[in-house]
Amino acid sequence: MTSQTYDAIVVGAGPGGAASAILLARQGLNVLAIDRKPDEDTYKKVCTTFIQRSALPVIEKLGLKEKLDAAGAIQNACEIWTEYGWIKDEGAGDPSTAHGYSVRRKVMDPLLLELMQAEPTLTLELGATLTELHADETGTFCGLTYATKDGPQTAHARQIVLADGRGSPGAKLAGVPTKMRENNRFVYYSYYENMPLKTGKTAQFWQTGRDMGFAYPFDGDLTMLCAFVCEEDFPEWKADRRTALESFFKDLPNAPDQSTATPASEIRGMRKLHDYWRPATYQGLALVGDACMSCDPMSGVGCGFAMQAADWMAERVGPALVSGKGHAEALNAYAKQHKSMLAGHEYFIRDASSGREANLLEKLISRAAVRDAVVAHRVHLFVGRVIKWQEFLSPGTLGRILLANLRGAPRTAPELTHVRG
Ligand SMILES: Cc1cc2nc3c(=O)[nH]c(=O)nc-3n(C[C@H](O)[C@H](O)[C@H](O)COP(=O)(O)OP(=O)(O)OC[C@H]3O[C@@H](n4cnc5c(N)ncnc54)[C@H](O)[C@@H]3O)c2cc1C
Repeated sequence: MTSQTYDAIVVGAGPGGAASAILLARQGLNVLAIDRKPDEDTYKKVCTTFIQRSALPVIEKLGLKEKLDAAGAIQNACEIWTEYGWIKDEGAGDPSTAHGYSVRRKVMDPLLLELMQAEPTLTLELGATLTELHADETGTFCGLTYATKDGPQTAHARQIVLADGRGSPGAKLAGVPTKMRENNRFVYYSYYENMPLKTGKTAQFWQTGRDMGFAYPFDGDLTMLCAFVCEEDFPEWKADRRTALESFFKDLPNAPDQSTATPASEIRGMRKLHDYWRPATYQGLALVGDACMSCDPMSGVGCGFAMQAADWMAERVGPALVSGKGHAEALNAYAKQHKSMLAGHEYFIRDASSGREANLLEKLISRAAVRDAVVAHRVHLFVGRVIKWQEFLSPGTLGRILLANLRGAPRTAPELTHVRG
């Protein structure tokens, strides 16, 4: 068995792996990317792909934006319903117009592979499954073996990037320490035709007690209904998933009219979507995307965070590989940036995935946000992961939250809804 040598090897060609490989290759580095998916048309089946607006800069940098727009992806925005009324983002005088995307993985995953294949120094091997990781005498990982239809292959590189998703077989092989917290909600969703939203292209989120409902407009004139529901209701949902899903939305305020709609997909869903997190670097490995941090999908952060982390990794590690200097420092800098940018978001997302009731501060924020356009805008920036919690809960915003709670009527009149305690 011969071994090829590269500057970097990326395991996984989802959003995190594709972005890592492209952004390293664009620095002139020789990159091998392997993925076990058999061909270009294979895509991740279970993902609701509401990509938060924090990811727009990296989407633009990759050249993915033009491709998404051409493919009919929806430039997304959302309105959030709580028991106090609608939290709408009217910009509050902020000139920035960042948006995310709603696009099916069936559409986005092949576009990412297309971008990879356009890089002259990037070799993409599909149908290639990581089976072993090799370390040098210092314990630093520097090579791997992968299975292909032509038999096992080995390759070596100065940098191995694990972007192999939530279960990360690579992290298991390397013995990367993994932390886990149980998620107490399951999810079911389906695409529909002829189900326009009353808000046009603006997605709708409903917080009904401890459950969440989402209606997203999608490419292909589709609408998705998606519900994240506490585990105790699972037996009832499992008995008739479509009826349970459609009934969930029937009484929600301003919900789409289902009378003309027809299902455009089977009901998809998952349980036990636990939160996993691992260090961003381990014995020379860089971990990117879900392999490093796999949050509750209800937050819709996974694809965006995966591409953003890839960008931070490539910005730090790429120049060190090009110059042959400061590799260890670059890896440490990546880990530090990952923690500084995402640890706070991860904490709040993980805390909410227990399916607990909203706490007093969250209630005060929601109540203020239906009354005060600035608070509403900041809620949207935080939920869109554009700002960190320290910026969101600044003394200025906290003051506005308190004042708005003391002040008169909401901007939008609350409508009746059923709320499950
Ligand atoms: C129900 C659900 C809903 C979601 N909704 C959203 C949402 O609305 N918005 C959002 O942003 N995110 C959402 N996510 C999360 C999102 O799907 C992930 O965060 C995102 O796919 C992570 O990207 P990634 O590149 O890290 O991993 P992945 O997309 O999982 O890619 C990993 C790649 O590694 C490959 N691979 C795995 N093992 C090996 C191996 N041994 N050898 C070679 N290749 C391997 C796989 O084939 C795959 O292509 C959702 C997830 C779920 C489960």
